[in-house]
Amino acid sequence: MRALLSPSAEAFLPCGAPRAHAIVPLRGTSLTRDLERLGESRIAESIRGMDSIYAETDAAQAAWKLASPFHCAEGCGSCCVGFEPDVLESEALYLAWHLLSSGDPRSSSLLDGSYVSPRSDPEAGCPFFDPSNPYHCTVYEGRTLICRLFAYTGDRGKDGSIRWKPCKFLPLEGLDGGLQRRSQYAEGELRERFGALPPVMSDITAQAVALDPDGAHSRLPLREALPRALAKILMVLRFTNGSPEPESPDPDIPRPLAS
Ligand code: SF4
Repeated sequence: MRALLSPSAEAFLPCGAPRAHAIVPLRGTSLTRDLERLGESRIAESIRGMDSIYAETDAAQAAWKLASPFHCAEGCGSCCVGFEPDVLESEALYLAWHLLSSGDPRSSSLLDGSYVSPRSDPEAGCPFFDPSNPYHCTVYEGRTLICRLFAYTGDRGKDGSIRWKPCKFLPLEGLDGGLQRRSQYAEGELRERFGALPPVMSDITAQAVALDPDGAHSRLPLREALPRALAKILMVLRFTNGSPEPESPDPDIPRPLAS
């Protein structure tokens, strides 16, 4: 199956992309355009909330990427090969809205169960990973939280201080001797060496959980969460369009929302 990146998605390069192109603001894209069509629904609120969290994450990671010499290898994608994210509903709604608002035909196939993953081993990892696409991720603009956090976030030690450890796929060749190690870097060393700290994964995740605290323990694999999210959004659209009856003609056929 051919990768279905929309033209605007071509500008959003995944981890491993050239550094100069890696930081592209998400706001103002087709993703947030048309969101008013969901009215004041909880779903619209959730998508706006995730958009805001993703924007803040982009900004914090941009500062860290500028200060730190550690960068993913171009076109790497190794972190996606055997991995499928377990997601909060808010993450799934965000990705579902990305697919619907860009008129992505995969919306239909995901809903009716006919979606075919571009990978030859679809059960082995994320169904949106395309090994033959140089950018690998075929839903990059709408990708889930962990996909955005991996490699460019730190964690906190027991004392609350920020720590950071290079991803095992991250190339260290060419860095000075003191940086050619895969061990953990403490906050003091990070400040001293780079004058900057990475954003913290648990802090950002807590913000996403806070959007729907009741759903904090009901994460689902992406392949299960996404069709449900698509169906929920389409149901809200039917109501906001004034045709909530189940017998309404073609209620579940996704159409491009931007016309
Ligand atoms: S959504 Fe994209 S970035 Fe995330 S695991 Fe799947 S292919 Fe990788």
